[in-house]
Formats: sequence, structure tokens, C-alpha cells
Amino acid sequence: TVLKSREEEKNSGIIAVMQDVTEQEALEKERKEFVANVSHELRTPLTTLKSYLEALEEGVVDDRELSRRFLRVLLNETDRMTRLVTDLLQLSRYDAGQYALDLQPVNVRELLHNVTERFALRSQQENIALSLDVPESGLPRVKADRDNIIQVLDNLISNAMKYSSENTTVVIQAHEEENVVRIEIIDEGIGIRRRDLDRIFERFYRVDKARSRSMGGTGLGLSIARQIVLAHGGTIEIDSEWGKGTRVSFTLPIYGENEDGA
Ligand code: ADP
Repeated sequence: TVLKSREEEKNSGIIAVMQDVTEQEALEKERKEFVANVSHELRTPLTTLKSYLEALEEGVVDDRELSRRFLRVLLNETDRMTRLVTDLLQLSRYDAGQYALDLQPVNVRELLHNVTERFALRSQQENIALSLDVPESGLPRVKADRDNIIQVLDNLISNAMKYSSENTTVVIQAHEEENVVRIEIIDEGIGIRRRDLDRIFERFYRVDKARSRSMGGTGLGLSIARQIVLAHGGTIEIDSEWGKGTRVSFTLPIYGENEDGA
């Protein structure tokens, strides 16, 4: 039996090593895919920039009206590239664990109100109503880094509007659950197919790349939102019905009374 158990030990050792290797291979594959994705995502706007600049150089510059339009495209593309690089830097800081959350008691009602306000003009321009559904009183404060949560909300509300059409409503909801406050962004937009839903939080995963790009998307918004929420100890889920609409729901821990003054 001693021999057998040694044999077993050896086997389990081999299995552990093999598991380690496959895990490493998977990580390596993921890393390679990521680098390929980043390169591709950066090359696409560069190709656009170059072709517009060439057109300008070849004479478009003499056409005032057309050059204005081309400059608009160039500015939009450079803005998107800047966003892309900023998003990538942020993701890599989280990956490296180099982030510090400034956790404070945050009033969710007030925060949601402020963020929604920032979308007022866009809501008017795009004719998409924004409706805030938060209890007037009694909602406990959450323990959160305000700026980071604003970024999550910006990404989610902006997505809800991006993938909705005119004369629809985006509802922003918050309510208390056990130890957490749940915040939900619900739209009546194009929705997401079941098969895409499982991959939606992956970096650069987009259902419709062209549409996302033309709307200024980087394909990183949801992965960043997820990383921020997880770093707060919360959870995030997405639920959707193709052609009907999407609901993104996340939680933040309640700020405990005894944490006051800490
Ligand atoms: P993007 O910059 O492309 O919006 P995100 O990471 O924010 O990147 O979202 C990833 C993809 O998920 C989007 O390209 C889009 O296909 C889909 N998506 C996200 N939010 C919604 C929504 N509210 N309704 C429909 N599709 C959505």
C-alpha cells in the first residue's frame, strides 16, 4: 500500500503539472489574442486617418465644404483612438493590481441624478427619454469610489442609448437588497442574442463591430465596467432579449454605519 500511495502521489503530481501547463497555455493564448486585438483596433483608425489625409493632400483641401467634413471624421477618429488608449491603460492598471479605490459613503440617488443630468442634452437630441426610478428616501449609502462608479454609469447609460432607437425610454433604477444596493439600466433597444450574451464582457467583443465603431465605441466599455464593479466587491450581470431590450444590473456594498469616520 505504501508503494501504491507513492504511485498515486506521483500521478497526482503529474496531473497538477499538466493542469498548470494547460492553464499557462490558455493564458498565453489569451495574451496573444489580446495583443492581436489591440494592434488591429489601433490600425483600423490609423488606416482611416491616412486615407482621409491622402485625399486632403490630393486636392480635397481646396474644397472647403468637403475638407470640413473630412476634418470632422479625422477628429472623431483621433478622439476614439485616445479613448481606446485611455481604456487600455486603465484595464492594464487593474490587471496589474495597480489601482487604489477611494472608498467613501456615496448617496446613490444624488449620484444617479447627477449622471442622468449629464445625458440630458443627448437624450433630447436623440429623442430617447431617460427615466430615473429611485426611492426618494431610505436608500442606504454605498461604499464606493465615486469617480469610478460614474465611469461605470457613463458606459452603461451610453450603451443603452447607443443601441436604442428614437422614442424609447432608458430607465435607471436603484433599490436596496441584502447588504447591497442594486442599480439597473434598462433599455428598449436592439437587444443582444443569446449566443453573444455569454461573451459580451470580453475585451473587444462586439456584436456589430462597424456599428460600434461608427458610434465611437471601443469594445472595452463593458469589460471596464465589470472590472470596476468587481473591484468594489459587487457583481454585474446582463440580461437581454433580441429585439426587445437589455437590462444591465450591478450591485455595490452598503456603507456600514460603524464605518463612519473611519
Ligand atoms: P462598445 O464600445 O462597442 O459599446 P462595450 O464593451 O460597451 O463596447 O459593449 C460591447 C458590445 O455589447 C457592444 O458592441 C454591443 O454589441 C453590445 N451591447 C452593450 N450594451 C448594449 C445594449 N444596451 N444593447 C445592445 N447591445 C449592447
